[in-house]
Amino acid sequence: MMESQLRISLTDQRKEKPDSSKLGFGIHFTDHMFMMDYTAGKGWHDPRIIPHGPLTLDPAAMVFHYGQAVFEGLKAYRNKNGEVRLFRPDQNFKRMNRSLARLDMPQVDEKFMVEALKKLISVEKEWIPTEPGTSLYIRPFVIATEPYIGVRTSSTYKLLILLSPVGAYYENGMNPVKIYVESHYVRAVRGGTGEAKVPGNYAASLKAQAEAHDKGYDQVLWLDGVENKYIEEVGSMNVFFKVNGEVWTPALNGSILQGITRDSTIQLLKDWGVPVIEKRIAVEELLQAYQNGQLEEAFGTGTAAVISPIGELNWNGHVMTVNDNKTGQLTQKIYDTLTGIQYGQLEDKFGWSVVVTE
Ligand SMILES: *Cc1c(COP(=O)(O)O)cnc(C)c1O
Repeated sequence: MMESQLRISLTDQRKEKPDSSKLGFGIHFTDHMFMMDYTAGKGWHDPRIIPHGPLTLDPAAMVFHYGQAVFEGLKAYRNKNGEVRLFRPDQNFKRMNRSLARLDMPQVDEKFMVEALKKLISVEKEWIPTEPGTSLYIRPFVIATEPYIGVRTSSTYKLLILLSPVGAYYENGMNPVKIYVESHYVRAVRGGTGEAKVPGNYAASLKAQAEAHDKGYDQVLWLDGVENKYIEEVGSMNVFFKVNGEVWTPALNGSILQGITRDSTIQLLKDWGVPVIEKRIAVEELLQAYQNGQLEEAFGTGTAAVISPIGELNWNGHVMTVNDNKTGQLTQKIYDTLTGIQYGQLEDKFGWSVVVTE
């Protein structure tokens, strides 16, 4: 698909922009959105930037019944010089294609999608806040739209991209979170959809999240769905532990989401000469490291928070307090480096940062 096919129809009713000190997350949406349609036999067609507004769908649309849907999440960052940047957007559309393939949905043209996204962002550039830590959250997603309530793959889809200005994740500096290690519910199993970024994984996780919240925890750490023994990931983040000078993270095993922040963190650590070990990590092994005084730092990685330090883990009543409940030095360094690259304030030797407009 060519960029020249992108149709743009701008609204004449621009909304008032929210106060950038009170943005929150995912509450406000910009004036426009991207949409395109897929029809079997014809492929993706009619890419367009149109006013943000409600969709009209038949209530029999297959997404409502069998959950054929995938999504992505990334951000655009605007710095003091007015430059707007994306962080590794090609990786998001690559992953979207892997998620689409898993749900038997049609592939998209990754290059075209990055170009279409850049165009949408330049149309909406005035919506990107500039205060430190703020950004424009980008939500691409694909839904099955065919009106049919038999179980099979849909023959029509819509792909949309919504934009939402968001506040700084950490308004008063980084706060370590409390994590409940979940031993009853599971998020994903090998061969399932854990590796795909699909809404159904989240639907299945909400109950455990709510119960952990009631017990005073911020997030759930998921164990593997077969033996309930090996660490997988935290809520919507991948997880890392610094143990005796090494950094451990669960190896990708088919049920763990392949985070782009995870991959970037591993590349940075290797570049700094910090040993990174991707392996199967039993909670028991982590508890032993803790008891031996070797669990030095722990953190989650994901687009929303970038890096989220972990101050406490509770596994079946075994409470592990990490680094006195304070953000570790290495954790802070990764955060500062990634955000520095994202805002175009640090050297980007990996070529991760993509300038949208100057
Ligand atoms: C999106 C997501 C992540 C983090 O991925 P990033 O690409 O780093 O934002 C981790 N786990 C789950 C379950 C996710 O959906």
